[in-house]
Amino acid sequence: MYSIGIDVGSVAAKAVIFDGKNVIAKKMIPTGWSPKESGIALYNSLLEHSKIDKNNIRMIVGTGYGRIALPFIDHKVTEITCHGKGAHYLDADIRTVIDIGGQDSKVIRLDEDGNIKDFLMNDKCAAGTGRFLQVMAHALEIDVSQLSDIGRGAEPQNINSMCTVFAESEVISLMASGASKESIAAGLLQSICKKTYSLVSRVGAESKVFFSGGVSKNLLLREYLSEKLGVEIITSEQSQFLGAIGAAVIGFKK
Ligand code: ADP
Repeated sequence: MYSIGIDVGSVAAKAVIFDGKNVIAKKMIPTGWSPKESGIALYNSLLEHSKIDKNNIRMIVGTGYGRIALPFIDHKVTEITCHGKGAHYLDADIRTVIDIGGQDSKVIRLDEDGNIKDFLMNDKCAAGTGRFLQVMAHALEIDVSQLSDIGRGAEPQNINSMCTVFAESEVISLMASGASKESIAAGLLQSICKKTYSLVSRVGAESKVFFSGGVSKNLLLREYLSEKLGVEIITSEQSQFLGAIGAAVIGFKK
């Protein structure tokens, strides 16, 4: 028997199949304009890719902002709860999750069973999120995945604006005035680091600290944050799938 966890986020839709012990298949596609259409496409392609029989799926749990649009799920669970259970499944010693996704960032404190002790979420604007980095990478004419390598070793340029629209103009002006892409990339990551640090400071960061969401793939940002918080921050290859993994773990136990 299997469970499926599906996390339809603002930027990416992620889904996994769980056999009670391991994640046996995973898939991610862009969410695009319709969470419902992308959720259905993702579900179908995950089943096709894994070749498992639909009759062996005991539960499908949906999470993420698009979960309300999914017609085929058995349960809906909040992202906060799913991230908690997903982190606990990956490493039972995780006590803090810092998640930076496409449109929001959150800090979640967990107890020893992966239950939520406290959390704080910033979903008011794109400042400090993946979408912010995508816009800035576009202004720098690079891919968002290159920001870390490009910024490494550079002296961070001070970026004053946090609002995505103003920061984009500031980046364009900085380039026009001769600032290097390297220093701007480092400066942008420093500004996200400061913003995330202020969110984390309000909830506290107990070790182990885990970094999740698509932005956790940015190694330089993880290093900046580790240094600023004074704790080691761990992550995993599966970190962007944390919500989907938690949803599948919850589904398997239902
Ligand atoms: P959501 O759940 O809101 O859709 P995700 O957690 O899936 O968000 O993260 C999406 C974000 O991840 C994108 O906005 C992008 O900025 C960031 N991202 C994706 N791949 C990378 C990468 N290789 N390096 C840095 N950031 C990345």
